[in-house]
Amino acid sequence: MINSDHIAKLSEFVGEKGTTTDPRNLEPFVTEWRDKFIGQTPLMLSPKKTDEAAKIIRYCNQHKIPIVPQGGNTGLVGGGIAGLDNAQEVLLSTRRMKAEPTVNPSDFTLVAEAGCTVATMQDAASEQGRLFGLSLASEGSCTAGGIAATNAGGVHVIRYGTTRAMILGIEAILPDGTIIDELSGLRKNNTGYPLSQLLIGAEGTLGLITKICFRLFPQELSRATAWLAVPSPQDALKLLSLSREVSEDQVSVFELMDRSALEFTYQHIPGTRDPLGDISPWYVLIEIASSAENSAVDDRMQALLENALADGLITDGAVAQSLDQRKLFWRNRESISEAQKLEGGSIKHDVSVPLGQIAVFIQSTTQALHTSFPGVRVTPFGHLGDGNLHFNVMQPKDADKTAFLDQWEAMNRLVHDEVIAHGGSISAEHGIGVLKKAELLRTKPAAEITAMKAIKKAFDPNHIMNPRCLFD
Ligand SMILES: Cc1cc2nc3c(=O)[nH]c(=O)nc-3n(C[C@H](O)[C@H](O)[C@H](O)COP(=O)(O)OP(=O)(O)OC[C@H]3O[C@@H](n4cnc5c(N)ncnc54)[C@H](O)[C@@H]3O)c2cc1C
Repeated sequence: MINSDHIAKLSEFVGEKGTTTDPRNLEPFVTEWRDKFIGQTPLMLSPKKTDEAAKIIRYCNQHKIPIVPQGGNTGLVGGGIAGLDNAQEVLLSTRRMKAEPTVNPSDFTLVAEAGCTVATMQDAASEQGRLFGLSLASEGSCTAGGIAATNAGGVHVIRYGTTRAMILGIEAILPDGTIIDELSGLRKNNTGYPLSQLLIGAEGTLGLITKICFRLFPQELSRATAWLAVPSPQDALKLLSLSREVSEDQVSVFELMDRSALEFTYQHIPGTRDPLGDISPWYVLIEIASSAENSAVDDRMQALLENALADGLITDGAVAQSLDQRKLFWRNRESISEAQKLEGGSIKHDVSVPLGQIAVFIQSTTQALHTSFPGVRVTPFGHLGDGNLHFNVMQPKDADKTAFLDQWEAMNRLVHDEVIAHGGSISAEHGIGVLKKAELLRTKPAAEITAMKAIKKAFDPNHIMNPRCLFD
């Protein structure tokens, strides 16, 4: 129980500016952006510095008070929402830990505090002629700590890897309040267990990440963007191979979209439209990019289109001739989730399968869904280059939204069974949080769950760090 003595003591560590107890001010921080998870808490603490956060965690550990870390609150699995099911938890927000990032252009590194947004890091890197490799639709709000804790993906993983691959080391506070510091920017360090890597993707269950040293890349100075009509996911996969070969492996984006996902977008989102004339069942948004100015990316894109047309891998395509046209392609792609919200109920699956299994997975899962849930509209889209699909299923037209959403768990089970049967993962980039806990237990081998629980127990014997996340 968090009592008034605890609140008074914990507030001392952060002062008035870092203490929030008024329920009206707390509301946005305990509400997930889709309103799927709404929690409550008597106390949000927002430390400004690592040592303040360490004092909070040490105190909470001594008094066995659970803590839920939160960054930008853009997570999609409920992991950063305190007080679900009336749990007594302190919300520990990193929103005040956001000093200007330090960029070292010659080392190709950037060090940021946990509460820095991805957009701020992108800008800071770009000002020094470097590229921050992660890009995702929530980048204006999601934070350095959040992307590290969830090992976020996004549209550039095909070229620059996941957040895990982009991190050289972190500073973090362990559940007993001790601080680990692996911020030196070492690229090689084979001295036992990689602690930074263990906390990355742990969703706040093993400690609070306070600073991160990211790897940077040369900026993309030449870029060609195209919107292509493809007959099938199988053809899209062949197109991906061809693109990598023809572009000298300079593909930096390769997104697959089902036509029906785009129909909703064109219908509901102003400023979106079909860039091509004829209707195709599938589309690909592709970018080829180079760090050299005046590189031959346009020629490579042209060569790709000619080869792909000749091989029947695409039926039509448009190459962006202006910044506005490129923006249109991206607006089409990035508005899909928003459009689905406006169209009605949508049951989400963020899954991945090995590349070679994608086409058969889409086919068999779509078929199984239509058999078990007649009338549903299946709208897969996602980062094909990483084998990652947002396999979203829309309610039947004019169906009751609540009744449809009541089938969430049953539908998840069907889709996840298909994922596992095709050698995939039930969470490609959003994590487990509280949303997928039961499915994690059901689908992950028991030996792996046992090992994960042993790690949790070793790091957090009092079970104070995000205790309802991942597993109970
Ligand atoms: C429109 C939209 C598009 C999105 N697109 C993508 C996408 O393409 N790819 C993708 O991967 N995700 C995507 N997401 C999901 C989300 O943006 C990511 O999961 C992001 O990494 C969350 O960052 P955050 O700062 O908002 O974290 P939060 O939502 O605040 O927290 C997420 C989790 O991390 C933990 N956490 C947060 N900060 C810390 C910290 N400092 N130390 C320890 N634990 C911490 C929390 O406890 C929670 O479990 C999208 C979300 C939205 C709303």
